[in-house]
Amino acid sequence: MSTDKIPYKIYLSESEMPTAWYNLRADMKNKPAPLLNPGTGQPLTAEEMRDIFCDELVRQELDETTAYYPIPQEIQSFYKMYRPSPLVRAYCLEEKLQTPAKIYYKFEGNNTSGSHKLNSAAAQAYYARQQGLKGVTTETGAGQWGTALSMACSYFGLDCKVYMVKVSYEQKPFRREVMRTYGASVTPSPSMETEVGRKILAEHPGTTGSLGCAISEAVEVAVSNPSYRYVLGSVLNQVMLHQSVIGLETKAAMDKYGIKPDIIIGCAGGGSNLGGLIAPFMGEKLRGEADYRFIAVEPASCPSFTRGRFAYDFCDTGKICPLAKMYTLGSGFIPSPNHAGGLRFHGMSPVLSQLYHDGFMEARAEEQGDVFEAAVTFARVEGILPAPESSHAIRAAIDEALKCKETGEEKTILFGLTGTGYFDLLAYQKYNDGALSDYIPSDEDLAIGFAGLPQVPKQT
Ligand SMILES: *Cc1c(COP(=O)(O)O)cnc(C)c1O
Repeated sequence: MSTDKIPYKIYLSESEMPTAWYNLRADMKNKPAPLLNPGTGQPLTAEEMRDIFCDELVRQELDETTAYYPIPQEIQSFYKMYRPSPLVRAYCLEEKLQTPAKIYYKFEGNNTSGSHKLNSAAAQAYYARQQGLKGVTTETGAGQWGTALSMACSYFGLDCKVYMVKVSYEQKPFRREVMRTYGASVTPSPSMETEVGRKILAEHPGTTGSLGCAISEAVEVAVSNPSYRYVLGSVLNQVMLHQSVIGLETKAAMDKYGIKPDIIIGCAGGGSNLGGLIAPFMGEKLRGEADYRFIAVEPASCPSFTRGRFAYDFCDTGKICPLAKMYTLGSGFIPSPNHAGGLRFHGMSPVLSQLYHDGFMEARAEEQGDVFEAAVTFARVEGILPAPESSHAIRAAIDEALKCKETGEEKTILFGLTGTGYFDLLAYQKYNDGALSDYIPSDEDLAIGFAGLPQVPKQT
């Protein structure tokens, strides 16, 4: 009989919830490279950034030294509506796999928007309202970020304009309606409403859009309207800071039971959930206090870490946004439309990019069929229908657990289960019908994206 007393779900009480976010950059020796002004090629100043982002978020974006940021009381209250999120011991999955490994996952899907994105949406909407702004603009791909932001904006009393990648706008009408129900306006991108949208449509008529296009549109609307600012759901340092709440809660819950993970796994789109989950653990590793293996999992059809370049690049297709130094496939890279699993952004968080470059983290790419197979295995034993994005992490967690089965090692594996898949049933339908195909870009395909990388002057 097992003497294991770890419950299926480890919750924190309200008084155990984190009251400050953790800024991993404070513990990094090699700081992530600064954002550059695309016009001058020089580091973006706080002044320039304030046209795009609200003031407090500019401060957070640029701050590489303050380790802890107190979470404002209003945001803590908002978090209490849906947090703490459960840390689950995947006993049923372990049983199914017959593995000696101990598997845990942190489940972020217990809110209406269905993912971790609400953690940063709440913070960004709060600071915009604090500054007296009228509203915010943003892009959304599959729609999780737009949904999260529309919830946060309605709570904090802000107008919310969402540019939604056209293919998702058409394929995911239900997400669109959730956003509209929370009061957001939703426009398919590229649209005729913006200069950059009209330009992209003229150059690529019939395009199904991309996150990069939608970002360009949302930024254009924000900078041409003084009472609006732009907000982004991933990639940026500030977003990673807010998402550290995931890792802080996880660590607090594990510490209660003396659990120490050996391997920490997360899916990587723009890097925010992974960055947030690993933050306090990576902090310990960087300070030399503990060691962990970190694994980023990305789709084989959009392989920024595993096949991208570590270079300065645009975050958007319209090339109006600041340049970020990151692992990138080039801002012109658009994943094949038959890629259904999300995580479609061409770049990656500069923080995670630097850590990966410096050897603190591993990365692997997974094909769609394998990802959905893992999703179904997980759903059938753990009860939760996972988002396809999250299922990349499930795939890697299962593979690591199966390795333990071969070697007999009792490793502790932690992964981020970022969200639910209720709005991804078209993708599940394709998988169930055996009609899910993957397109893995050839080296020639990738070369086209790399050719569009900008020339950047030497930094002084
Ligand atoms: C947006 C999203 C992701 C990927 O974004 P990151 O910034 O890489 O975390 C992963 N899972 C779900 C459910 C999402 O909505």
